[in-house]
Amino acid sequence: MCEFCLKHGEGKKWYLQAANYSDDLLSDVRRRRYIEDFFTNTDEVEHNVKKLDSLAKAPAVIRAVVARLITGRMKKQHFGQVIPIEDVERIFDFVNSIVRVACFCRHVILHTEHRYCYGITLAPDGGALGEIIRGLDNSFLGGPDNLAMETLTKTQALAAFRDHEKQGLCHTVWTFGTPFIAGICNCDRADCLAMRCTLTHQIPVMFRAEYVAAVDPDLCTGCRQCMRLCQFGAISYSAANKKIVIDQTRCFGCGICRSLCPTDAIWLENRKDVPAAANLW
Ligand code: SF4
Ligand code: SF4
Repeated sequence: MCEFCLKHGEGKKWYLQAANYSDDLLSDVRRRRYIEDFFTNTDEVEHNVKKLDSLAKAPAVIRAVVARLITGRMKKQHFGQVIPIEDVERIFDFVNSIVRVACFCRHVILHTEHRYCYGITLAPDGGALGEIIRGLDNSFLGGPDNLAMETLTKTQALAAFRDHEKQGLCHTVWTFGTPFIAGICNCDRADCLAMRCTLTHQIPVMFRAEYVAAVDPDLCTGCRQCMRLCQFGAISYSAANKKIVIDQTRCFGCGICRSLCPTDAIWLENRKDVPAAANLW
């Protein structure tokens, strides 16, 4: 269990606790203000991307201190965790509203619209979160398709998530004023700020999943389809055995490698049951 499960989930998966999606949490003025600032302050995001690039050139000791400070602050404000599609489905089972919007990261970094982010609420029609977002200058939610906030059924949303997996996008759940959870994103290493921060700059702003992948060598045909999808460099190919190997110490447990495997050779194990990965977050 990650530290959020202990702090915000009473020892169970924190993102499966309905209380963490409750409108009640939005009565906190600071949390509401954080959400408003998050979706309107694109200049600050661009500025932070540049600061991160400069930090990469700083001495290691300075990078380590700054990384600890940023991670600590983000755990209070906007922190994520990788989740596999089974847990996305469990979340969809208890929320009452799913809204698809343009991705804020891609909007800032690529200046293009990619509809990879999903707002989820317990209340119908987006609840108090929807009211906040609708009250902002949220022009980034429009873009070329001009769909703004597009309401999906659970079945439609799940089908879209399965497509995202085949494109190599990994599902991540996000707080907006921890422990309030407002959405699930579909991330890749090149475009997603959180993955860039966590993987490229070694400043964690999201936990690994509660799972790690394992492969059955008897089922693996060595086709290497799974390698194309892994964002985390956890899969390698053994030319000697003509099969893939999963490094569980690098695996983030997203499970998307399974989506293209023709023989169902990969499955997810509970991270806590895998000694080599149990304490890696
Ligand atoms: S996709 Fe499946 S069969 Fe192909 S290399 Fe990966 S684990 Fe093996
Ligand atoms: S090996 Fe691990 S990190 Fe890579 S795609 Fe599979 S589950 Fe995700």
